[in-house]
Amino acid sequence: MSEQRLRIAIQKSGRLSEGSLELMKSCGLKISRGKDKLYGRVQELPIDVLLLRDDDIPSFVADNACDIGIVGENVFEEDRLNGSRENAAEAVMPLGFARCKLMLAAPKEWVFDGAEMLEGKRIATSYPGLTLKWLKAQNVCAKPVMMNGSVEVAPRLKIADAVCDIVSTGATLDANGLKPVATVFDSQAILIRRNAPFSPEKQTVFEALLKRINGVITSRDAKYVMMNAPKSAVRAITEYLPGAEAPTVLELAGSSEKVAIHAVCRESVFWDTLEDLKKLGASAILVLPIEKMMA
Ligand code: ATP
Ligand code: ZN
Repeated sequence: MSEQRLRIAIQKSGRLSEGSLELMKSCGLKISRGKDKLYGRVQELPIDVLLLRDDDIPSFVADNACDIGIVGENVFEEDRLNGSRENAAEAVMPLGFARCKLMLAAPKEWVFDGAEMLEGKRIATSYPGLTLKWLKAQNVCAKPVMMNGSVEVAPRLKIADAVCDIVSTGATLDANGLKPVATVFDSQAILIRRNAPFSPEKQTVFEALLKRINGVITSRDAKYVMMNAPKSAVRAITEYLPGAEAPTVLELAGSSEKVAIHAVCRESVFWDTLEDLKKLGASAILVLPIEKMMA
Protein backbone atom coordinates (compact mmCIF):
# COMPACT_ATOMS: atom_id res chain seq x y z
CA MET A 1 0.00 0.00 0.00
CA SER A 2 1.35 3.38 -0.93
CA GLU A 3 1.64 6.29 1.49
CA GLN A 4 0.21 8.58 -1.13
CA ARG A 5 -3.09 6.75 -1.48
CA LEU A 6 -6.07 7.56 0.74
CA ARG A 7 -7.02 4.52 2.82
CA ILE A 8 -10.66 3.84 3.57
CA ALA A 9 -11.89 1.16 5.99
CA ILE A 10 -15.22 -0.52 5.30
CA GLN A 11 -16.98 -3.52 6.86
CA LYS A 12 -15.86 -6.83 5.34
CA SER A 13 -19.21 -8.55 5.62
CA GLY A 14 -22.34 -7.59 7.49
CA ARG A 15 -25.09 -5.02 7.53
CA LEU A 16 -22.87 -2.13 6.47
CA SER A 17 -21.02 -3.86 3.63
CA GLU A 18 -23.59 -3.67 0.87
CA GLY A 19 -24.41 0.00 1.51
CA SER A 20 -20.72 0.92 1.71
CA LEU A 21 -19.85 -0.84 -1.56
CA GLU A 22 -22.96 0.59 -3.22
CA LEU A 23 -21.94 4.10 -2.16
CA MET A 24 -18.43 3.63 -3.60
CA LYS A 25 -19.98 2.35 -6.81
CA SER A 26 -22.37 5.30 -7.04
CA CYS A 27 -19.31 7.55 -6.65
CA GLY A 28 -17.95 5.92 -9.82
CA LEU A 29 -15.34 3.90 -7.93
CA LYS A 30 -14.69 0.25 -8.75
CA ILE A 31 -12.84 -1.81 -6.17
CA SER A 32 -10.60 -4.61 -7.34
CA ARG A 33 -10.08 -6.96 -4.42
CA GLY A 34 -6.81 -8.68 -3.67
CA LYS A 35 -6.55 -12.44 -3.21
CA ASP A 36 -6.78 -12.18 0.58
CA LYS A 37 -10.04 -10.19 0.19
CA LEU A 38 -8.93 -7.91 3.03
CA TYR A 39 -7.57 -5.29 0.77
CA GLY A 40 -8.90 -3.62 -2.36
CA ARG A 41 -7.68 -1.01 -4.75
CA VAL A 42 -9.68 1.68 -6.54
CA GLN A 43 -8.64 2.44 -10.08
CA GLU A 44 -10.38 5.76 -10.73
CA LEU A 45 -8.83 7.63 -7.75
CA PRO A 46 -5.75 6.88 -5.61
CA ILE A 47 -7.75 5.11 -2.89
CA ASP A 48 -7.01 1.82 -1.10
CA VAL A 49 -9.77 -0.08 0.66
CA LEU A 50 -9.38 -2.16 3.83
CA LEU A 51 -12.12 -4.67 4.60
CA LEU A 52 -12.47 -5.08 8.36
CA ARG A 53 -14.82 -6.04 11.18
CA ASP A 54 -16.96 -3.00 11.93
CA ASP A 55 -15.77 -2.84 15.56
CA ASP A 56 -12.17 -2.35 14.40
CA ILE A 57 -12.93 0.55 12.07
CA PRO A 58 -12.87 3.44 14.63
CA SER A 59 -9.53 2.34 16.09
CA PHE A 60 -7.94 1.73 12.67
CA VAL A 61 -8.86 5.29 11.70
CA ALA A 62 -7.80 6.78 15.03
CA ASP A 63 -4.49 4.90 15.05
CA ASN A 64 -3.44 5.96 11.57
CA ALA A 65 -3.83 2.55 9.91
CA CYS A 66 -6.58 4.10 7.75
CA ASP A 67 -7.44 7.70 6.94
CA ILE A 68 -11.21 7.43 6.73
CA GLY A 69 -13.88 4.80 7.33
CA ILE A 70 -17.55 3.93 7.07
CA VAL A 71 -19.08 2.68 10.32
CA GLY A 72 -22.35 2.66 12.27
CA GLU A 73 -22.75 5.79 14.39
CA ASN A 74 -23.63 3.47 17.30
CA VAL A 75 -20.26 1.72 17.09
CA PHE A 76 -18.37 5.00 16.61
CA GLU A 77 -20.02 6.74 19.57
CA GLU A 78 -19.66 3.70 21.82
CA ASP A 79 -15.96 3.49 20.95
CA ARG A 80 -15.59 7.18 21.74
CA LEU A 81 -17.29 6.82 25.09
CA ASN A 82 -15.13 3.84 26.09
CA GLY A 83 -11.92 4.62 24.27
CA SER A 84 -8.75 6.16 25.51
CA ARG A 85 -8.03 7.84 22.15
CA GLU A 86 -10.35 10.72 22.79
CA ASN A 87 -11.28 12.60 19.59
CA ALA A 88 -8.57 10.93 17.51
CA ALA A 89 -11.27 10.28 14.90
CA GLU A 90 -14.23 12.47 14.03
CA ALA A 91 -17.54 12.07 12.20
CA VAL A 92 -17.57 13.77 8.79
CA MET A 93 -21.14 13.17 7.66
CA PRO A 94 -24.12 10.84 7.92
CA LEU A 95 -24.53 8.56 4.91
CA GLY A 96 -28.25 7.73 5.12
CA PHE A 97 -28.10 3.92 5.15
CA ALA A 98 -27.96 1.12 7.80
CA ARG A 99 -30.47 3.03 9.90
CA CYS A 100 -31.31 1.38 13.21
CA LYS A 101 -32.14 2.24 16.79
CA LEU A 102 -30.49 1.30 20.06
CA MET A 103 -33.51 0.63 22.29
CA LEU A 104 -34.25 -0.24 25.85
CA ALA A 105 -36.51 -3.26 26.05
CA ALA A 106 -38.27 -4.70 29.06
CA PRO A 107 -40.25 -7.87 29.79
CA LYS A 108 -43.71 -7.65 28.20
CA GLU A 109 -45.43 -7.85 31.58
CA TRP A 110 -43.82 -4.60 32.78
CA VAL A 111 -46.14 -1.61 32.74
CA PHE A 112 -43.49 0.86 31.68
CA ASP A 113 -44.27 4.37 32.83
CA GLY A 114 -40.91 6.08 32.58
CA ALA A 115 -37.17 5.67 32.94
CA GLU A 116 -37.44 5.76 36.78
CA MET A 117 -38.61 2.16 36.56
CA LEU A 118 -35.04 1.22 35.66
CA GLU A 119 -33.57 2.54 38.93
CA GLY A 120 -31.27 -0.08 40.41
CA LYS A 121 -31.97 -2.58 37.61
CA ARG A 122 -29.42 -4.62 35.61
CA ILE A 123 -29.45 -3.91 31.88
CA ALA A 124 -27.80 -6.34 29.46
CA THR A 125 -26.16 -4.59 26.50
CA SER A 126 -23.26 -4.54 24.05
CA TYR A 127 -23.36 -0.73 24.33
CA PRO A 128 -22.62 0.10 28.00
CA GLY A 129 -21.28 3.56 27.14
CA LEU A 130 -24.35 4.74 25.22
CA THR A 131 -26.69 3.05 27.73
CA LEU A 132 -25.05 4.75 30.74
CA LYS A 133 -25.03 8.11 28.99
CA TRP A 134 -28.76 7.83 28.36
CA LEU A 135 -29.53 6.64 31.90
CA LYS A 136 -27.53 9.55 33.29
CA ALA A 137 -29.49 12.00 31.16
CA GLN A 138 -32.66 10.48 32.65
CA ASN A 139 -31.24 10.79 36.16
CA VAL A 140 -31.47 7.07 36.64
CA CYS A 141 -28.88 4.83 38.28
CA ALA A 142 -28.80 1.32 36.77
CA LYS A 143 -26.10 -1.24 36.09
CA PRO A 144 -25.16 -2.23 32.53
CA VAL A 145 -24.25 -5.92 32.14
CA MET A 146 -21.87 -6.23 29.21
CA MET A 147 -22.71 -8.95 26.66
CA ASN A 148 -21.21 -9.37 23.20
CA GLY A 149 -24.20 -11.07 21.60
CA SER A 150 -27.60 -12.68 22.26
CA VAL A 151 -28.38 -9.83 24.62
CA GLU A 152 -32.11 -10.54 24.40
CA VAL A 153 -31.88 -13.85 26.28
CA ALA A 154 -30.43 -12.18 29.40
CA PRO A 155 -33.74 -11.51 31.23
CA ARG A 156 -34.88 -15.12 30.77
CA LEU A 157 -31.57 -16.34 32.14
CA LYS A 158 -31.97 -13.89 35.05
CA ILE A 159 -28.64 -12.27 34.20
CA ALA A 160 -30.41 -8.93 33.74
CA ASP A 161 -33.81 -7.31 34.25
CA ALA A 162 -33.96 -5.43 30.94
CA VAL A 163 -31.87 -5.08 27.78
CA CYS A 164 -30.54 -2.28 25.59
CA ASP A 165 -29.97 -3.49 22.05
CA ILE A 166 -30.12 -2.61 18.35
CA VAL A 167 -33.66 -3.07 17.07
CA SER A 168 -34.94 -2.95 13.54
CA THR A 169 -38.24 -4.88 13.37
CA GLY A 170 -38.60 -5.90 17.01
CA ALA A 171 -39.23 -9.54 16.05
CA THR A 172 -36.25 -10.85 18.07
CA LEU A 173 -37.39 -8.97 21.16
CA ASP A 174 -40.92 -10.27 20.75
CA ALA A 175 -39.72 -13.86 20.44
CA ASN A 176 -37.91 -13.43 23.76
CA GLY A 177 -40.85 -11.98 25.65
CA LEU A 178 -39.55 -8.41 25.50
CA LYS A 179 -40.99 -5.11 24.27
CA PRO A 180 -39.17 -1.90 23.29
CA VAL A 181 -39.83 0.89 25.78
CA ALA A 182 -37.45 3.76 24.91
CA THR A 183 -35.04 4.84 22.17
CA VAL A 184 -31.54 5.37 23.49
CA PHE A 185 -29.73 6.22 20.24
CA ASP A 186 -30.76 6.72 16.59
CA SER A 187 -28.06 5.41 14.29
CA GLN A 188 -27.04 5.23 10.65
CA ALA A 189 -23.82 4.69 8.71
CA ILE A 190 -21.42 7.63 8.96
CA LEU A 191 -18.17 8.63 7.31
CA ILE A 192 -15.36 9.15 9.81
CA ARG A 193 -11.83 10.55 9.40
CA ARG A 194 -8.66 10.82 11.41
CA ASN A 195 -8.64 14.05 13.32
CA ALA A 196 -5.28 15.22 11.99
CA PRO A 197 -4.30 16.94 8.73
CA PHE A 198 -3.79 14.70 5.70
CA SER A 199 -0.83 15.10 3.36
CA PRO A 200 -1.62 17.49 0.48
CA GLU A 201 -1.98 14.51 -1.91
CA LYS A 202 -4.42 12.72 0.37
CA GLN A 203 -6.31 15.92 1.11
CA THR A 204 -6.95 16.42 -2.62
CA VAL A 205 -8.28 12.87 -2.99
CA PHE A 206 -10.36 13.22 0.18
CA GLU A 207 -12.00 16.38 -1.12
CA ALA A 208 -12.72 14.78 -4.49
CA LEU A 209 -14.31 11.80 -2.74
CA LEU A 210 -16.40 14.03 -0.43
CA LYS A 211 -17.68 15.95 -3.42
CA ARG A 212 -18.80 12.73 -5.07
CA ILE A 213 -20.40 11.39 -1.88
CA ASN A 214 -22.28 14.65 -1.41
CA GLY A 215 -23.50 14.43 -5.00
CA VAL A 216 -24.73 10.87 -4.48
CA ILE A 217 -26.49 11.70 -1.22
CA THR A 218 -28.24 14.82 -2.47
CA SER A 219 -29.46 13.08 -5.59
CA ARG A 220 -30.59 9.94 -3.70
CA ASP A 221 -34.02 11.26 -2.71
CA ALA A 222 -34.09 13.93 -5.38
CA LYS A 223 -36.60 13.71 -8.21
CA TYR A 224 -37.31 15.78 -11.29
CA VAL A 225 -41.01 16.64 -11.19
CA MET A 226 -42.99 17.93 -14.17
CA MET A 227 -46.67 18.87 -14.38
CA ASN A 228 -49.16 21.15 -16.05
CA ALA A 229 -51.03 23.63 -13.88
CA PRO A 230 -53.18 26.74 -14.00
CA LYS A 231 -51.05 29.91 -14.00
CA SER A 232 -52.88 31.06 -10.88
CA ALA A 233 -51.72 27.97 -8.95
CA VAL A 234 -47.98 28.30 -9.68
CA ARG A 235 -47.19 29.92 -6.36
CA ALA A 236 -49.19 27.48 -4.24
CA ILE A 237 -47.68 24.52 -6.09
CA THR A 238 -44.14 25.86 -5.76
CA GLU A 239 -44.57 26.18 -2.01
CA TYR A 240 -45.87 22.65 -1.89
CA LEU A 241 -43.06 20.90 -3.77
CA PRO A 242 -40.76 19.20 -1.22
CA GLY A 243 -37.35 20.86 -1.07
CA ALA A 244 -37.67 22.59 -4.45
CA GLU A 245 -36.13 25.98 -5.16
CA ALA A 246 -37.19 28.24 -8.04
CA PRO A 247 -38.95 25.86 -10.45
CA THR A 248 -38.96 26.49 -14.19
CA VAL A 249 -42.31 27.71 -15.51
CA LEU A 250 -42.85 27.15 -19.25
CA GLU A 251 -45.58 28.24 -21.60
CA LEU A 252 -47.85 25.55 -22.97
CA ALA A 253 -48.57 25.75 -26.69
CA GLY A 254 -52.13 26.77 -27.39
CA SER A 255 -53.02 27.64 -23.80
CA SER A 256 -52.97 31.01 -22.11
CA GLU A 257 -54.22 29.78 -18.74
CA LYS A 258 -52.03 26.79 -18.19
CA VAL A 259 -48.26 26.42 -17.83
CA ALA A 260 -45.81 23.58 -17.37
CA ILE A 261 -43.87 23.51 -14.09
CA HIS A 262 -40.54 21.68 -13.86
CA ALA A 263 -38.72 21.39 -10.53
CA VAL A 264 -35.99 19.43 -8.78
CA CYS A 265 -37.43 18.16 -5.49
CA ARG A 266 -34.66 17.44 -3.01
CA GLU A 267 -36.78 15.38 -0.66
CA SER A 268 -38.90 12.26 -1.16
CA VAL A 269 -42.00 12.73 -3.29
CA PHE A 270 -44.81 10.57 -1.88
CA TRP A 271 -48.15 9.55 -3.38
CA ASP A 272 -49.79 11.92 -0.88
CA THR A 273 -47.80 14.81 -2.35
CA LEU A 274 -49.12 13.95 -5.82
CA GLU A 275 -52.70 13.86 -4.52
CA ASP A 276 -52.24 17.29 -2.95
CA LEU A 277 -50.72 18.70 -6.15
CA LYS A 278 -53.74 17.42 -8.06
CA LYS A 279 -56.02 19.18 -5.59
CA LEU A 280 -54.14 22.41 -6.35
CA GLY A 281 -55.01 21.98 -10.03
CA ALA A 282 -51.95 20.13 -11.36
CA SER A 283 -52.39 17.51 -14.08
CA ALA A 284 -50.13 15.19 -16.11
CA ILE A 285 -47.71 14.92 -13.18
CA LEU A 286 -44.46 13.09 -13.93
CA VAL A 287 -41.82 12.18 -11.33
CA LEU A 288 -38.44 11.19 -12.79
CA PRO A 289 -35.33 9.83 -11.06
CA ILE A 290 -32.14 11.92 -11.07
CA GLU A 291 -29.00 9.92 -11.56
CA LYS A 292 -26.40 12.46 -10.57
CA MET A 293 -26.43 16.02 -9.33
CA MET A 294 -23.68 18.45 -8.44
CA ALA A 295 -24.14 21.82 -6.79
P1 ATP B 1 -18.76 -7.67 12.27
O1 ATP B 1 -18.59 -9.08 11.88
O2 ATP B 1 -18.18 -6.74 11.24
O3 ATP B 1 -18.28 -7.36 13.66
P2 ATP B 1 -21.43 -7.28 13.39
O4 ATP B 1 -22.13 -8.58 13.49
O5 ATP B 1 -20.85 -6.65 14.60
O6 ATP B 1 -20.33 -7.39 12.22
P3 ATP B 1 -23.65 -6.21 11.83
O7 ATP B 1 -24.75 -7.04 12.40
O8 ATP B 1 -23.19 -6.47 10.44
O9 ATP B 1 -22.38 -6.17 12.82
O10 ATP B 1 -24.09 -4.68 11.97
C1 ATP B 1 -23.24 -3.65 11.62
C2 ATP B 1 -23.93 -2.32 11.88
O11 ATP B 1 -25.10 -2.23 11.06
C3 ATP B 1 -24.46 -2.09 13.29
O12 ATP B 1 -23.45 -1.65 14.17
C4 ATP B 1 -25.50 -1.02 13.04
O13 ATP B 1 -24.88 0.25 12.92
C5 ATP B 1 -26.05 -1.38 11.67
N1 ATP B 1 -27.39 -2.01 11.67
C6 ATP B 1 -28.41 -1.68 10.84
N2 ATP B 1 -29.50 -2.43 11.07
C7 ATP B 1 -29.19 -3.26 12.04
C8 ATP B 1 -29.90 -4.31 12.72
N3 ATP B 1 -31.15 -4.63 12.42
N4 ATP B 1 -29.27 -5.01 13.68
C9 ATP B 1 -27.99 -4.73 13.97
N5 ATP B 1 -27.27 -3.75 13.37
C10 ATP B 1 -27.85 -3.02 12.42
ZN1 ZN C 1 -19.09 -6.02 14.93
